Amino acid sequence: MKVFKFGGVSIKDFDSIQNVAHILENFKDEKILIVISAMGKMTNALESVSEAFFEERKEDTFRLFEKIKKAHLDLLKYLITLQWEKATNSLNDFFTEVEWLLHDKPVKDYNYYYDQIVCSGELLSSTLISYFLNEKKIHNQWLDVRDILRTDDAFRDAKIDWEVSGKNAVEKLLPLFEKNNFVITQGFIGSTDENESTTLGREGSDYTAGIFAELLDAESVTIWKDVNGIMNGDPKDFKDAVCIEELSYKEVIEMAYYGAKVIHPKTIKPLQNKNIPLYVKSFADLRLSGTVITGVSPHDLPPVIVYKQNQVLFKLQTIDFSFAEGRPTQYLNEILEELRIKPNLSQNAAISLMLCIDDVSEKTEQLAARAAEIFEVQIQKDLTLLTIRHYTPEYITMLTGHKEIVLEQKSKETIRLLMKDV
Ligand code: ASP
Ligand code: MG
Repeated sequence: MKVFKFGGVSIKDFDSIQNVAHILENFKDEKILIVISAMGKMTNALESVSEAFFEERKEDTFRLFEKIKKAHLDLLKYLITLQWEKATNSLNDFFTEVEWLLHDKPVKDYNYYYDQIVCSGELLSSTLISYFLNEKKIHNQWLDVRDILRTDDAFRDAKIDWEVSGKNAVEKLLPLFEKNNFVITQGFIGSTDENESTTLGREGSDYTAGIFAELLDAESVTIWKDVNGIMNGDPKDFKDAVCIEELSYKEVIEMAYYGAKVIHPKTIKPLQNKNIPLYVKSFADLRLSGTVITGVSPHDLPPVIVYKQNQVLFKLQTIDFSFAEGRPTQYLNEILEELRIKPNLSQNAAISLMLCIDDVSEKTEQLAARAAEIFEVQIQKDLTLLTIRHYTPEYITMLTGHKEIVLEQKSKETIRLLMKDV
C-alpha cells in the first residue's frame, strides 16, 4: 500500500481537482490511502470564523462562514452531477455541525473551539473529492479520519496515541481496501477519546501521511506539490534554485530547522522509524522524477539556501559587568520560554549575549522590556538571516555581495550570516 498526500494548493479549484483525477488514473491498480488537506486557503478562512466566534462578533462569524459554504457548494455544482443531491446533503451535514456550535456562546478555551471549527475544512474537501472521483469512475471509499487517529486533548497541537490509532488502522482502515483500491481521508485532524475533534498543528497533513505510513507499513509516501520537488532554495529569493533528486531524512530535518518551507518536520520521524521512502513530486508534470527522501545520505549535495527575512538582533550586556554565563543566561532563557520566543541564532561572550529573533512587534517590545531588568539592551532591526548548508566560498560571495555582515556562525556543514538589508 502507498500513501498519497494532496495539499491545499493541489485542490484549490475546479481545474486542480480535475488534475487529481488525472493523476490517480495512472495508479488505478494500486492500493492507495489518499490524505487530503483543506482547499486552498480554507484553513485561514476557518481561523477567521473561530476568532470572530470567540470574540462574539456574531454577524461576522456567520458572514464569514457563509462564504466558506458558498465556495464549497459552488464547486460541488460544477464537479458533481449524478450524485449532486447526495453530495450536497453530506456537505450540509458538516455545515450544520459547525453552525450548531456557532450559535452557542463561547465558554471553553479558544483552542477547543478552533479545532471544532477548523477541522471542517478537511472534512468538506475530502467529501467533495470523494464524490467527484466516484462519479469519474475512480472508485474510492471516504473515511472519517477521526474514527482512526486518536489523540490527546492538547487542542491545536494534539499528540497521537500510537497504540489506539494503530489498532484502529488495522481493524477499521485496512479492511476498506478489500472493496476499493483507493481510500480517501483527511490530513491534519484527529479525535480525542471523547469524540472531540483535534488538529495536529498548521500544515499538519504531511504529518498525517507520515503517521499512516508508519501505522500501516506503507511501501512509500508521495506528497504532490506545486514545485518540481524539493529545491535547494526558494525560487522567489534565489533564481538559480534547482531540484534536488535525493535527500536523506536528516538533511530534510536540518533544512526545516533552519527555516526552509519544505515538508512539515514531524513527517520525517515516522518514516525514518520504518525506513519508508518519501517522494515529493510535481502535480503539474507527472513525468518529472521529483525528490526522493530516504535513510541514505547522498554525496555532493548542492548548497542549500534558506533566507529568513525581518530579523532583529538583541545585543545584551550585563549591567554590573558580571559574567553572562550562569544566572543572566538562565534568566534570559526563562523570559524566552515565557514569551514563547525561539531564537533563530544566538552567541555568547564573557559579559554579553546576542540573539536574533523574528521581528514580531509585540514580542520584540516585550523581550526588550524584560531583558532590560538585568541587561543593557541594544537592538538592531531590518536584518536578514541567510543559512547555507554545504557552503562554498563562491556561494558565500555570490549571496552576500556588498551586504554588511552583522554576525557570522560557521560549522563544517553550515554557515549562517546575519546581514543588513540594503
Ligand atoms: N489545512 C491545514 C493547514 O492549512 C493542514 C495542511 O494544509 O497541511 O494548515
Ligand atoms: Mg496546506
